[in-house]
Amino acid sequence: MRYISTRGPGTPRSFSEILLEGLAPDGGLYLPQTYPRIDAPTLAHWRKLDYADLAFEVLSLYIDDIAAPQLRALLRKTYTEQVFGSAQIVPLKTLQGGVFLQALSNGPTLAFKDIAMQLLGNLFEHELARRSEVLNVLGATSGDTGSAAEYALRGKGGVRVFMLSPHGRMSPFQQAQMFSLQDPNIHNIAIDGVFDDCQDIVKTVSQDLEFKRAHHIGSVNSINWARLLAQVVYYFAGYFQATRSDTEVVDFAVPSGNFGNICAGHIARCMGLPIRRLALASNENDVLDEFFRTGTYRVRGAGQTHATSSPSMDISKASNFERFIFDLVGRDAQRTRELFGSALPRRGEFALEHDEFKRVGDFGFVSASSTHAQRLATIAQTWKRSRVMIDPHTADGLKVGREFAQSGVPMIVLETALPAKFADTIREAIGIEPQRPAALLGIEQLPMRFKVMPADAQAVKRYIAQNCRP
Ligand SMILES: *Cc1c(COP(=O)(O)O)cnc(C)c1O
Repeated sequence: MRYISTRGPGTPRSFSEILLEGLAPDGGLYLPQTYPRIDAPTLAHWRKLDYADLAFEVLSLYIDDIAAPQLRALLRKTYTEQVFGSAQIVPLKTLQGGVFLQALSNGPTLAFKDIAMQLLGNLFEHELARRSEVLNVLGATSGDTGSAAEYALRGKGGVRVFMLSPHGRMSPFQQAQMFSLQDPNIHNIAIDGVFDDCQDIVKTVSQDLEFKRAHHIGSVNSINWARLLAQVVYYFAGYFQATRSDTEVVDFAVPSGNFGNICAGHIARCMGLPIRRLALASNENDVLDEFFRTGTYRVRGAGQTHATSSPSMDISKASNFERFIFDLVGRDAQRTRELFGSALPRRGEFALEHDEFKRVGDFGFVSASSTHAQRLATIAQTWKRSRVMIDPHTADGLKVGREFAQSGVPMIVLETALPAKFADTIREAIGIEPQRPAALLGIEQLPMRFKVMPADAQAVKRYIAQNCRP
């Protein structure tokens, strides 16, 4: 399998070549040249596998430059009951009316990003050892992504993490999750400023190509292909748990921000998994919902991006969306370049032709959005009816999932975080303090390891230079 860019005719590349990269050199995103199609006997065979072996079957269709026994060993090391809390890794809970919750957030940081990030950590370690290289991962976080990256990369050979966060602006729990890590390869840098200052510093450092090359600076951002690929697996696992036979169809509802999670569902569907509908759920930041209703993709400015109670979905543009549009326009790289490389930077929006937009239905997409009040109501109703506590992001997904659910078709709502991460909103909805997993009780009292620095890219560069070698 080789990988191409959504924007151009560049030389197709192998999995290991693109593993450590972000954007393709032409500014596009990597996608496989084709999506392998799964036939009925293969699907029947996969139904019997445990999660790690299912992951092996899916990933080995896309990765041909890691030897099969090594890939299988990496997957078995990643997807364990010890790390993800159950043998099924992504178990289903049954709610009323043919609706299921698929638990994706029982990993170390209590959000679904762990599923992809834990694998990425092991893949990075493997690839860096093979190349005899080191990588210094530089990132900015307002909470979720940074902690998932740190828990995936802690203690890994060849990798160091420099994670910037706004000093004193994360929740005490989020801060403790990150700052209590004592691994010498993890560097928490608390910046005197806001999240945008952290992001600006990362941008400034990354634009200094000489510094970047000399210090082996890399990232683990949401457009990484391996992260997306890891997420394809749980759509298969969810389908097998919700159905008895491979002739049944299911729907999925997906709380969405950067379009990574649901893009994995789109890929699973293109591979032939019997998904009828993919229901995209937005919060008040409804960039994507607007597109699926109107065919116009209109990115927002910082001033128009709301801070909501499902903060991991607060996006102004969706970094993975270009992958879907490439498929939607018939994998026409020139058209994709026109839309994302030209119209969007110039006008901040584009509108698809009628014929292009019409095809959205062929790909199974429907969408809706949810507000703070609806989020609270969904949390309260789910608690009252089923005694199941859900987090605000999952509530957005469930609200939208219920709108599109049809009798006779299982509706699988992806649970993207645990309520313990968002205690304020849970208290507001039902007046109850969500329980934390035992391992995280009292983490706020642990010794903290972090460095406070001014919002100054030069100072951060000096710190990296001093700390990026053994
Ligand atoms: C990242 C995240 C999302 C959004 O997922 P995308 O892949 O960006 O669409 C939703 N919920 C939670 C809890 C998240 O952390």
